[in-house]
Formats: sequence, C-alpha cells, structure tokens
Amino acid sequence: MKYVSTRGRAPVLEFGDVLLAGLAADGGLYVPDHWPELSAAALSGEPGRGGYADLAAEVMWPFVAAAYPRDRFDEVVLDAYAGFDHPEVAPMVELGDGLWLMELFHGPTFAFKDIALQLVGRLFDEELARRDERVAIVGATSGDTGSAAIEAVRDRGNIQIVILHPHGRISEVQRRQMTTVDSPNVHNVAIEGTFDDCQDLVKAMFSDAEFRADQRLSAVNSINWARVMAQTVYYVAAAARYGLERASFSVPTGNFGNVLAGHVARQMGLPVDRFVVASNRNDILTQFFTTGSMAVSEVYPTLSPSMDIQVSSNLERLLFEVLDRDGARTAELLEQFRATGKMQIDARVLAELQRQWSGLRVGEDETTATIADLYRATGMIVDPHTAVGLAAARRARQDADEAMVVMATAHPAKFGDAVEAAIGIRPPMPPALAELAERPERCGLLPNDLAAVKAHVARCAAGLD
Ligand SMILES: *Cc1c(COP(=O)(O)O)cnc(C)c1O
Repeated sequence: MKYVSTRGRAPVLEFGDVLLAGLAADGGLYVPDHWPELSAAALSGEPGRGGYADLAAEVMWPFVAAAYPRDRFDEVVLDAYAGFDHPEVAPMVELGDGLWLMELFHGPTFAFKDIALQLVGRLFDEELARRDERVAIVGATSGDTGSAAIEAVRDRGNIQIVILHPHGRISEVQRRQMTTVDSPNVHNVAIEGTFDDCQDLVKAMFSDAEFRADQRLSAVNSINWARVMAQTVYYVAAAARYGLERASFSVPTGNFGNVLAGHVARQMGLPVDRFVVASNRNDILTQFFTTGSMAVSEVYPTLSPSMDIQVSSNLERLLFEVLDRDGARTAELLEQFRATGKMQIDARVLAELQRQWSGLRVGEDETTATIADLYRATGMIVDPHTAVGLAAARRARQDADEAMVVMATAHPAKFGDAVEAAIGIRPPMPPALAELAERPERCGLLPNDLAAVKAHVARCAAGLD
C-alpha cells in the first residue's frame, strides 16, 4: 500500500512516512492509492469474537501491511484498546425503531478522539523507535483534543508533547484532564489570550522552517491519515457485530474526520445507505451538501464546542474522491477556496454526492430539546454533540425500517453545564473524572508572545522542563 497526496504534487509515501508527516508537502492530505476490500472475516464480525482489537487489526492491516510484522501490529492494537472502560470498546444501545447510539466515549478522556489517538500515539512511538528519532508534538486546544493527545503519548520516551490552551477559557474538567497528567514528557502551557491566539502561535512555530527542524516539531492533528484509518473500524463493528445488514450513520461533525472514516469503510465494501452530516449553528457543511457551494463565515460559539469549525479539513479527502482522484482539480478548488473563502462544485458532482450524503443543521434550542426529550422518554443522558447527531438522525430518517446509527462522541459528564440546563440535573461523573479534582496540577503560564513561547517549547523539546 502506497499513499498519494490529494493535490497530486507531493512524493508518494509509505505508511510510516505518512504517519509522521501529517500534511503532505504540497499542502494536500495523504490517502491510500487504492481501497482494499474488507475481508469476509471482517465483514462477518468474526475476528470480533476475540474482541474489538482483533477486528481492528483485521480491518486496518491492509493499510499498514508493509510497515510492521503482523504479530507486532496485533500487539500494539490490543494494547491501544486495553485501557477502555467497556469490554466492547464501542458498544451500541438501541433506542428503538432501528435507531441506535454507538458510544465512542469509553476511552481515557471520555471523548471519541481517544479511539484514534490511543492507537496513533503507540504507532508514533514504534516508528520513532525504529528510526531512532525523537519528536516534539506541539498543539493548541480549546478543550478535548489536547487531553486526548496527551493521554495518547504520555510516558513515551521518544516524544515530548507541549499543549497550549487559552488561560481561563476552558472548563475546569478539561484543564484538569491535561494538567494533572503526571508524566515527564507532558508540558501544558496556559497562554494569556484566546484559542485563536494559541493556534496562531502554533502556526507561527510550524511555519518557521529552521525552528521546526531544530526542535523536530510534529503534530497529531485530525488530518493525519492514521487517525482516519483507526476510526473506520467502529463503522465495521457497528454493522458486523450487531447484524445490521445495511445501515445509515448520523455523525456530529466538525473537521469531517469521523464521518470520512465511515466513507472509507464503505469504499472498502461495508454496505452503507447514507451518511447524515450533522452540524450545529456553524453549518457550512449543511450548505455544501444542500447547494454544492461553501462560503466561510465567522465561527459562532455553541453548546457543542468541538464542532465550532468553519473549514473542515478532511472534506478535501472526499472532494478528491468525487473529482475522480484528480489532484490538479482538487488543488485548484481548494486553493480558490483558500484565496476567496468560497467554492462551488458542479451540479453533476453534487447530484452524485446527494445520493449518499445529507447535511443537516441543528440549532441550539433543538439540541437542548433533544437532550430533554431523550431523558424524559428513556432516562438516558446524551452530551450536546451527540444530541446534534440524534436530532439530525430523527429528521433525516425516511422510514421506520431504516437502521440508523448515531455516533455518540462524548460522555455527558464532560458537558455537565449544557446537560444541566436541558434536564435540570448534572450527569454523574465517572470516577476517573471525579478523581481529577484531588490531583495536583502542573502547568506553565506565558504571555501571548511568540519569542517567549518558542524559548519554552525549545526547553520542553530538550526534556529540560
Ligand atoms: C472532535 C469532536 C467532534 C467532531 O469530530 P470531527 O472528526 O472533527 O468531525 C464531535 N464531537 C466531539 C465530542 C468531538 O470531540
């Protein structure tokens, strides 16, 4: 298996290079040069008899086959999912009438990003050890991603991780999930500024070629192919282990990574009717799937902050597919989008997309009402991101026979304020989250000043801080 860039002008790479590179040199995203077929065993859920990790290794193996011996890969995958607090890793609950919730929040930080990052952290470590290299992962977070990345690489000798967050602007639980990790390779920095300031600092460090090379900067952001790969597994698991012959999926979406992974599973032969791309008030994807055009506007803060995104990076991988894998055309479309903030696909391509994709926008009131209705009807509590997916699924479902799986992306206790506003009670904290309040925190505080932040990152990268 080789990997090509969606913009067609970057070197063709092997899995290990793609894992460490993230973004391609031409600004595109790496994708496999062909779609492997799911094995009959994977489609029947048979490897799943040995648990989620067995199925995961079977589904992902064609993507990595050149990079590892199979038994080593199996061990790494098994280890990645050993720390989840549910034996099925991603269990499903039926809400009735063919509507299902797939719980993706049983990992160490209680949000779905753990499913990919727990594996990707271990694969990074393997690849770095094999090359005898070290990296410093640097990122900015407005909440969930930082803690999932930290948990994924803590205690790994070849990796230092530095995560910037806006001082006083993330929830206490989110902060404590990062700052109470007692590991010498984990470095948290609160920045006196906003999330955008943090992101600008990270971008400035990455675009300084000399600093980037000297400090061996790296990222594990959601455009990394390995993250998408790891997420394809639970789509297969949903259908295979629960005997759904054909299903549709409703996915609360931000950067389009999660739902794109479903598309990959379908390309590999999973029978899927359609994908419902559920957005909050930041509804640029709803525009895209209903009109074929996108225009960037400002980002509105909502009850589902991990979806407060305007430019969904992973959409580029789908565009590449619908443009018949023509890198030059994909590059042209995205460069135009970047320059003008607008883009439009032609009517034929839109019509083709609409046969398998729907985009739905769910507003704040509908999100809150969905949490309340579900609680009243079943006693179950969902978080606001999941509620967006559930509301979209209910509206999009054409008949009672259509099996539809809603991806539940976060544990409700992570968004206790929004849940309490909807139903009047706070969701119970899992013990691992409650314990955070007792643990000591470790975190630096710096002004929004590039020179100061660079000096600090250099000390962390050298393991001196
Ligand atoms: C990241 C995240 C999302 C959005 O996922 P994408 O892959 O970016 O589309 C949805 N819900 C939660 C809780 C998240 O953390």
